[in-house]
This record gives sequence, structure tokens and C-alpha cells, in this order.
Amino acid sequence: VTAGVKEHLDRSSAYVLPVYARPPFVLAHGKGSYVWDTEGRKYLDFSAGIAVNALGHADDGVTQVLSTEAGTLLHTSNAYHHPWSGKLAELLVTLTQQEGSGSVPSLGAKVFFSNTGTEANEGALKVARKVGKERWAKRTGKAWDDPACDKHEIVCFENAFHGRTLGALSVTTNPKYQKPFEPLLPGVSVGRLNVKDDLVRLVTDRTCAVIVEPIQGEGGIRAADADWLRALRQRCDETGAVLIYDEIQCGLYRTGSLWAHSTLPVDTHPDIVTMAKPLGNGYPVGAVLMRDSVAEPMTPAPICSEHYGDERVSAFETLAASDVVPGGAGSEAHPAAVVGMARERGVLLLTAGKDAVRLVPSLNIGEREVDETVDVLESCLGIV
Ligand code: PLP
Repeated sequence: VTAGVKEHLDRSSAYVLPVYARPPFVLAHGKGSYVWDTEGRKYLDFSAGIAVNALGHADDGVTQVLSTEAGTLLHTSNAYHHPWSGKLAELLVTLTQQEGSGSVPSLGAKVFFSNTGTEANEGALKVARKVGKERWAKRTGKAWDDPACDKHEIVCFENAFHGRTLGALSVTTNPKYQKPFEPLLPGVSVGRLNVKDDLVRLVTDRTCAVIVEPIQGEGGIRAADADWLRALRQRCDETGAVLIYDEIQCGLYRTGSLWAHSTLPVDTHPDIVTMAKPLGNGYPVGAVLMRDSVAEPMTPAPICSEHYGDERVSAFETLAASDVVPGGAGSEAHPAAVVGMARERGVLLLTAGKDAVRLVPSLNIGEREVDETVDVLESCLGIV
């Protein structure tokens, strides 16, 4: 480590709360899909701020818009209208409706903005809590704020990641994240992804919200089956629970379509979608998109396939399916070891769960960069 890097690292360890384990270099600037550290070393960035920088680093359009807005009207608080919030909400609603299957709009029609993904999930859970109270009141003929109301339970799934604020953490089922901060929200049940037999026991009349990632990100890139999502949707309808899809990591074109669930049949579609990450390309903004039916009670108070063609997708699929050994040595490929080796070769990757390496580059990544990353991965995994 050079004296310059040491100075940065020392300052960081003196003043920054050490909640993240970071490698010993300091990123200084980026352009497109590349970043450079303070020593001038170049990295191909297949982590993209953990699937945030969809348009890469220092994109000319993003830079121009951000600098213009910074010099125009950066912040007004939620107490006032700002021209962009209505435009963005309209865009999210219309794009989602255009992607609906056939003539059935997949989701309307109200948007709530937040600053981060975890906050979008907090917002979604709060909407579901209020909807739960209203639905309970309708069923029992009592007032929605009657203390007897018991429709406030939440269902989430093993290996889910929904964020780190206390509500979102309560449905983020990783003991490493949860244990130090317990007690968390009461009334949370944890089910198994893609296991239909659990659903009747799991989702009951007391459930107000079911929250699930259509493709789990942090938990290891695991997709929910369409069949299971359909059964889940049906169970939510039977019990009056609000179905929330957390598309913070898998949404906004990460899978090639607007939402990971856009390509699934309409009878799997949720009541609420949460998003963040690429929505601002690094500028902090998240959103909750909800159907009118759940909006009504809220009053004031891995690889973008289409782009790269089949050949590259199959290169990644071959890599994903290969039962290989990192660097050709002895043990099974450990994701952290692969990520470390790729970094040595100038490519930034991420782990996901215990057994996956995650590739979440900018969505406008070039073909050359994809090829380079395939080469680096092949060499890390000892398959060339
Ligand atoms: N939900 C999912 C699926 C995520 O992947 C993340 C972040 O990694 C979050 C929620 C939390 O988002 P944020 O970091 O913007 O609070």
C-alpha cells in the first residue's frame, strides 16, 4: 500500500464507522463501465454500485441533468410540488402499463417517492398495514383504528434482503444482519421460496403484507417460480393480504424487461412494486408503485439478455453451470475467492449468498467488456 492510499485508509479507519469490510484501495473516478483507483489502476466494474449505476459512471446525460437541476431547484421538500416528481411518476405508471400482458394493465397507478430502497420497502409495508386495517374494518364492521384489529402480520421468505432499517430488517431473514438489533417487528413469519404447501399456513386472515423479491439478489440470485407466485397471489386474494414485489435489485431492466415480473402471466402480478438503485443511477431516489386499490386508503397525514445476444448469455450460462475449481487448485469455487481473483485481474464483482458470484454491470455495458469479463471469470475458475 502506497503512502497516498495509506493516508486515505487511515483517515477512514479513524473517522468512518467500520460497518463494511472494504478492499484496501480507494476508487477515485469512473467513466462508463470502468473505474480507476487513486493509484491509476483501472477496473472493469461489474458491481456498478451494487446494481445501481445502470448508465455507468460519469454518463454525459446524467451529469448534464444533475448539474442543471443543482443550479435550478434541487430540493423543495414534500410540502411543495416539483415538476419532476409528477413526470417521473407518470413515466413509471405508463411504462408499467405498457408492459402489462395483453390489454390488462399490469399495475396502476400511484407512486410514492423515497430516498433509498429500504425506505421504499418501509413505505410499502406501511401502505399494507393501513390497507390491512381498512380491510379488517370492512369485514368486521368496526372502525379501522379499533385496537382489536389484528390484520398486521407480515410474511417474508428465507434468504430475503429488503434493507437495513428496522422495519425492512425485520423481513431481511439473515441472522447476521438481524441478531445484533433484535427485538425487531413482531408478527413476521418466514416462508420458503417456491414451496407451495406452506402458503395456507403462512398467509392468513391476520396477514396484511407478503413481501418477496421475484429474483433474490443478496440471497444468492434465486428466482421465484411463476407457478408459486401465482399460488401466492391467489392466497393473498383469499386473505386480503397486499402482495409486494421488491424489485429494487432485479427491476428497472436488469433482466431485460422493465420489471422481473413483467414477463410473467398477469395472474402473478403484485399490488405494489418497490424500486430504487438504478432509478437515480447513484442519485438517492426510490419509489413505491401501487395499484389504485391499495393507494386509496393513503391520505395526507443478471444479465440484460436482449442487449448482448444469445452467444454471450450462453457463455455466462456455461460459467454458471460449471462445477469448477478457482484457479484450478484443490477445493470447490468459493464466491469470495473468485471475487478476489477477478479483482486482481482488474474486474470488480460481488458475491451473493453463500454460493453465488453476482454480475450486475451497468446496463449499457459494451460487448468488449462482457467478453473481457467472461475471459477473466474463465481464468479465475480454471476453465481455460
Ligand atoms: N431490497 C433489495 C432487493 C436490495 O437488493 C436492496 C439493496 O441491496 C435493498 C432492498 C435496500 O436498498 P437501499 O440500499 O437502497 O436501501
